[in-house]
Amino acid sequence: MSSVLAVDLGGTKIRSALVTPGGEIVAEDVRLTEVWLGFKGVADRILAGMEVVSAGRDACGVGVAVPAYLEPGTERILFAPNLKWRNVDLKRELEDALGLPVWLENDANLAALGEHRYGAGRGFKDLVYITVSTGVGSGLVLGGRLYTGTYGGAGEFGHMVVDPEGPTCSCGNRGCLEGVASGCAIKRKAQELIKSGSGRRMLELAGGDLSAVDSRIVGLAAREGDPEARAILATAGRYLGIAIASVANLLNPAVFIVGGGVARGVGDYLLKPAVEEAYHHIYPPYRGSLKILPAALEGKEGVLGAAVFALERLADRGNN
Ligand SMILES: [Zn+2]
Repeated sequence: MSSVLAVDLGGTKIRSALVTPGGEIVAEDVRLTEVWLGFKGVADRILAGMEVVSAGRDACGVGVAVPAYLEPGTERILFAPNLKWRNVDLKRELEDALGLPVWLENDANLAALGEHRYGAGRGFKDLVYITVSTGVGSGLVLGGRLYTGTYGGAGEFGHMVVDPEGPTCSCGNRGCLEGVASGCAIKRKAQELIKSGSGRRMLELAGGDLSAVDSRIVGLAAREGDPEARAILATAGRYLGIAIASVANLLNPAVFIVGGGVARGVGDYLLKPAVEEAYHHIYPPYRGSLKILPAALEGKEGVLGAAVFALERLADRGNN
């Protein structure tokens, strides 16, 4: 089997790669998404990235990780809030342009697949991958295969309720994990603290500009030893741990893997309280086997997961 093209489409960046069946990235291209260009314009940028990485070399299929809810069966993008897309057919657009089979899947699901095959989840049959970035999402690999649920929506970990009295979430419900443990939530907490007259170090690190205080600044302050920044991250981490314990009780997976840009940036200041809280809340007989690890693929989990997905689909085709 020859290599596949893999794309991780985000609201900010498009990462494309040519990946061998063994998971080696032969060539890579990263460019801005330019969401304002709209569907056709962004599709052209995806194609341009793929042209650079393929450079005339043969590929036998394409996997694309999209920040979207897809229609099961058709892979039509029903809703992609970060791209401002509704009801668009990226699969067909790319297939028509490339003359290759294209498979789309949700980005958190494919990140789970990437970590399972090449990252921190290697060798485990069942894992839950959690991404903490602007929002909170997850992907499930059960019995070695991606699990997406009957309607394709499995893994909405960020919308599990962890505090019924908590803040209103971006989804409109109250008390979701995403409202208290995402990059957005960390940023909001820090800005609220500063408005109340505290959080001086975080404001200094942002050059005195309140609107520039975000999860990255909170992470920087935490590393310097700022107790207020550390407390914000510890609170977010504890909520994450409560949600992990609930999922552990439900699925009893071998491992939880925590990735995503915010988790990577703030590291143990989020992860350690999460582990402690999960340990505290998990069904006691499961305590000894609870395993929570940081993701290993450093931002390449989406593109590698997209490659795995395309390779699996090609193999399924070959077997039928
Ligand atoms: Zn929600």
